[in-house]
Amino acid sequence: MEKTGIGRLEGQREYDMGKKDIRSMDFAGLQTEIERLGEKKFRAAQIYQWLHQKLAGSFDEMTNLPASLRARLGEMYQCTLPEPVRRLKSVIDGTEKYLFRLSDGNVIESVLMRYHHGNSVCISTQAGCRMGCRFCASTLGGLSRNLSASEMLGQVYQIQKITGERVSHLVAMGTGEPLDNYDNFLKFIRLLTDEKGLNISQRNITVSTCGIVENIRRLADEKLQITLALSLHAPTQEKRKELMPVAFRYELSDVLDACRYYFQRTGRRVTFEYSLVGGVNDSLADADLLAALIGGFGGHVNLIPVNPVKERSYVQSRTREVEAFKNRLEKYGINVTIRREMGRDINGACGQLRKSYMEPGVHAEGGDAAL
Ligand code: SAH
Repeated sequence: MEKTGIGRLEGQREYDMGKKDIRSMDFAGLQTEIERLGEKKFRAAQIYQWLHQKLAGSFDEMTNLPASLRARLGEMYQCTLPEPVRRLKSVIDGTEKYLFRLSDGNVIESVLMRYHHGNSVCISTQAGCRMGCRFCASTLGGLSRNLSASEMLGQVYQIQKITGERVSHLVAMGTGEPLDNYDNFLKFIRLLTDEKGLNISQRNITVSTCGIVENIRRLADEKLQITLALSLHAPTQEKRKELMPVAFRYELSDVLDACRYYFQRTGRRVTFEYSLVGGVNDSLADADLLAALIGGFGGHVNLIPVNPVKERSYVQSRTREVEAFKNRLEKYGINVTIRREMGRDINGACGQLRKSYMEPGVHAEGGDAAL
């Protein structure tokens, strides 16, 4: 794929401005919209299929629509997909990292992980983040803006188009806090799991949150079957405050109550993510406190050796300590996994590829793959 010059991008931005975002509309909404244009109802089904199954990036591709309708749609709506500007592929396990440029020039990153059970895409839900977690690179530049449903879908659609491989799983664990962009995120989930779209199974979707209590409760009431992962990272309110400023807003007990509510309403077991930070939250005493906190929960703990971020002084726990922490939790009967590191050679901590791209002169490691 040819690199796109800035000139066209500027044009693209003007082109998109003021136009309605047709890919964020659900099927009923699109039908209403198309009927309002005085078009036949069946046109909505054709357009929806182009947008969500054939993954068209322009109206020109919609060859079963009359040329006049294509032209009219192009004047009123935008349907561009995020533009891939960088693709890094791991030679170890085939994991790929993508940088996409949005129509307003913002860049976001996404990851494709290949597992035996299928291909999983990790998407960003915001450009930047305002949660401020101390060990995370995605939040260093603050929040630029929320992503629309179509921009979240676009990451999945582009990766499926570029690789020619079906995406079957999704994790919302890239840059951003999904529950800080609730309405767009929910629209995205409904479109992604729509049988008229990619029809990804709700059970193959995980949303990770730092713990926005009211929105965990709202999500619990949406009658979805997606998995909730809570970024816990500390066994006490005090320690959590040191690592995650969001803890100043919500009491740990309220966060856990909301998770319990999520389990009650959906029947889905909650995952607790716990990034092990050397000398901060990785002692056996921390493991004991953690077990006491979530022991009765029936949840599952995912240990993540913290990925060092150069702007922060945090270090990874040693392998021996990670193992000891895991064993201690297991002694309490807790189900624990250590997150397998995918794409070690292209990895960098969450948000680092985007960050290095935005800072001229700094380059991410890893091998560029063809786009
Ligand atoms: N905002 C969501 C998604 C964030 S990224 C959330 O807070 O859950 C997904 C996970 O990676 C979160 O658990 C996050 O805390 C964790 N994470 C971020 N930076 C990390 C790093 N440098 N090392 C290890 N885990 C990290």
